[in-house]
Amino acid sequence: MSSNIRLEKTCNQCGNAFTAKTTVTQYCSNDCSKRAYKLRKRSAKIDTAIQVEIQKTQPHPTIPVTQKDFLSIDDTCQLLGASRWTIYRLIDKGQLLAKKLGNRTIISRKAIDQLFNTSVV
Ligand SMILES: [Zn+2]
Repeated sequence: MSSNIRLEKTCNQCGNAFTAKTTVTQYCSNDCSKRAYKLRKRSAKIDTAIQVEIQKTQPHPTIPVTQKDFLSIDDTCQLLGASRWTIYRLIDKGQLLAKKLGNRTIISRKAIDQLFNTSVV
């Protein structure tokens, strides 16, 4: 059974008006259909490339805290399994050497190691 549908449509690719025989037709010609397909493929590729770039520029590459020479308060908490409060208390008591770097507190790995070398009870 042949369809007698005649639809005035605008090609999604070249913008020309054309008569479609089916409701799903989006392009005036095979060429336009192919071109649109290629474009879709390309933009999908670009999307993937952008995603990869976004992942590359993530601010925190996952370096394990155990391999860091300088740690933040959070890193130190994670490394020692202690609370922030405990870390701040150690710093206040002078048992853990910390440096202010702008508004961040940096603790060197050496200072943490020294914590275990001193015989503080
Ligand atoms: Zn077209």
